[in-house]
Amino acid sequence: MEKAEIFLLFISLVSPKSTFIMLNLVLFGPPGAGKGTQSEKIIASYGLTHLSTGDLFRKHLGEGTELGKLAKGYMDQGHLVPDAVVIQMVEHKISTSTDSKGFIFDGFPRTTAQAEALDVMLQKNGMHISGMIALDVPQAILKERILERGKTSGRIDDQEEEKINTRIQVYLDETLPVASYYEKQGKFHQINGVGQIEDIFNQITAVIDGF
Ligand code: AMP
Repeated sequence: MEKAEIFLLFISLVSPKSTFIMLNLVLFGPPGAGKGTQSEKIIASYGLTHLSTGDLFRKHLGEGTELGKLAKGYMDQGHLVPDAVVIQMVEHKISTSTDSKGFIFDGFPRTTAQAEALDVMLQKNGMHISGMIALDVPQAILKERILERGKTSGRIDDQEEEKINTRIQVYLDETLPVASYYEKQGKFHQINGVGQIEDIFNQITAVIDGF
């Protein structure tokens, strides 16, 4: 074994959350881009912890918690839940996922303030973002996909065209700047999010395997 390999093995043994071995991805894109579908496939292949803020809010909603009640008003209208609320929820999830091999952040960060907060909380835990993978999908296809999903998802925010338009507009106004945040750090990777699920996944793994 080479000296460098022995060193890396040693680091991975003494520090399970070492930045050498953890893979922390931001899966980025507008609503309906396919983040949920691709997250499932990435998790199955890489064993990462899924951190979907939308799913976490829906879980709170289902359980009728105070957080769920607070989030509901924003979610039903297609608006963003305030940063402080989202950040606290993510911080709790990261700090309680002690045996994680890394995270896939899905639907988070959605504002530059969230991205900055994420960097700080990862640093505190000896981690960093490996890279952002953005799924590029034209608006017309997004709407079609969300309306289709709305037939079975039971999500109020998937069912009305006006709410879908609001969500896409919120994405353009508040979330798109997050891509520049990672671009400035040299961590932005965009792939075409239209096509066969398997082909899109292959493009994603090619990016991940290059980290
Ligand atoms: P999603 O399932 O990711 O489309 O999220 C559904 C809804 O949850 C969004 O439209 C927002 O109201 C809320 N939400 C999810 N993630 C965030 C976030 N990172 N920041 C603010 N609001 C969020």
